[in-house]
Amino acid sequence: MAKKKKKSKTILEGKGRSTKPKCGLCGKSAKLTKTECCDQWICDDEGKYVLFSYERNSCHRNHRRFTLCGHHHAEGHSESWKDCPECRADFEKDAEMYVYYGINEYNFGKLDNPPSFEPTKCIDCGNIIVLSEGGYSSRGNEYWCEKCTDSNIQNMFR
Ligand SMILES: [Zn+2]
Ligand SMILES: [Zn+2]
Ligand SMILES: [Zn+2]
Ligand SMILES: [Zn+2]
Repeated sequence: MAKKKKKSKTILEGKGRSTKPKCGLCGKSAKLTKTECCDQWICDDEGKYVLFSYERNSCHRNHRRFTLCGHHHAEGHSESWKDCPECRADFEKDAEMYVYYGINEYNFGKLDNPPSFEPTKCIDCGNIIVLSEGGYSSRGNEYWCEKCTDSNIQNMFR
């Protein structure tokens, strides 16, 4: 009589492997909460943010403010942000920011097929301006790089 072989267990029973939740962005596990938008573990660190400091040291805030996921949730869209036509429409004139919001390091999952976009150029010197890095100035569809912005300001006071 052939005895049936016991199936070997392949599931690791948490040995050495910590199941402790950690922030999906920075990996810390000190004080966590779940994101409202996508139910992921994230640092509960909004309190750390100093108003108007523009620092980006809060995982929670960064995800909420600088991702499509956060935008999508805040605007009350339906379905997945990754193929949300409403999100796309919100950034219609700003594909560069759409892509940045979709692929930056504050995302848990990145935009699969980010659209291509024309780089933004300074109308004075022609240098490419990376909108997500800031430092530029704009009026309507015109953009000035940091350098030209500075010299424009200096000219004003000359
Ligand atoms: Zn974190
Ligand atoms: Zn989210
Ligand atoms: Zn959306
Ligand atoms: Zn310039």
